[in-house]
Amino acid sequence: MDMGQLAMVSCPSCGGLECIETPEAILDNIYSRYMACENCLPDPQLQKYLHFSKIKQEGYNNNPCVGCGKRHLDVVMADALSIMIEYGCRGKDSCLFDVGTPLISVGYPLAFPPRLRSNELILIADNISRPVAEQLIRVPEIKGVIKRVGAPSQCVGIQDTDCKPHTYELLSGCDIRCDVVTSSFGELCIYKSQSKIHIEFGRASPSKMQVLERLYVQGHLMQRVVVDGFCGPGTLGLMCALAGAKRVIFNDAWKTAIENTLLNIEINKNILGFELTTYMDTSTLPDIGENAIHVASAEGNSIVMDVFHGDFRKLKEIIPDFDICLIDTFPSVDPAAFVWNDINGRIVII
Ligand SMILES: [Zn+2]
Ligand SMILES: [Zn+2]
Repeated sequence: MDMGQLAMVSCPSCGGLECIETPEAILDNIYSRYMACENCLPDPQLQKYLHFSKIKQEGYNNNPCVGCGKRHLDVVMADALSIMIEYGCRGKDSCLFDVGTPLISVGYPLAFPPRLRSNELILIADNISRPVAEQLIRVPEIKGVIKRVGAPSQCVGIQDTDCKPHTYELLSGCDIRCDVVTSSFGELCIYKSQSKIHIEFGRASPSKMQVLERLYVQGHLMQRVVVDGFCGPGTLGLMCALAGAKRVIFNDAWKTAIENTLLNIEINKNILGFELTTYMDTSTLPDIGENAIHVASAEGNSIVMDVFHGDFRKLKEIIPDFDICLIDTFPSVDPAAFVWNDINGRIVII
């Protein structure tokens, strides 16, 4: 089936046309994306806990590589720290560790510190103001600056439909980035509005994929009907589609999760082979859905997908029968509270 070329997708966060790369383009060169080229300078070996005044005294080369134009992550972070000290949001004795958490724009498990091109880093920082953030995005590699709100352990998003959402604050630039999700049955790219969607660092996500891989090997995904009950950006449901599910039902009460899921269905449609139909303008949805609303569906030769915005507890009345239901709540939430009595045997808590 000819699904046609993927049209340019504008970024839901900044409206730009360069934020959303196709998975085909990403997967084509992901192995070399962050590598040094033959002209790159050696690792600058800047120490994370050394006072920045010392680093400055000793000097470091912050010029981009003449061959590939990239700079080492530590050099980018040192430039960021220099700005933060200059504008008074970090003390003179701060070190690189105090800058914040760097997230690369296309997340992929790396065995080495990345070398970055422009707009390849989103910085999550504590104690930072908008004027400083606006200075920071003048560092070419920095694409966006997000202010962390609350404790680092507090998840971004909603815990339950009656809780106030917890979000970080996008201070400048754009917060859209993606993760390359890998499994034994293939790879997809999953985009996230990172100031509003739970941030998964390295370890969390592979263990979820191991659960899916086990289900796949046991024959629970191929040709099955799967419910991704707390879908977030759609990672688990889309991976089930990749694993050969014949129908996937996505649900989330958080509007941003639904918007991200639709983006991820659209962006991965050529890999999975279907066309997306959206039934409504998602900007009209409430931030937290209650009654499950059918927002979109996607259909291809061997797969049907439906996307619902609403409370998982209310989904039961309107969805067709299914084979397996994945439940992926925040670590702080007891998933048992959401398990419908009559489907115990088909629930998988991720
Ligand atoms: Zn953007
Ligand atoms: Zn280079």
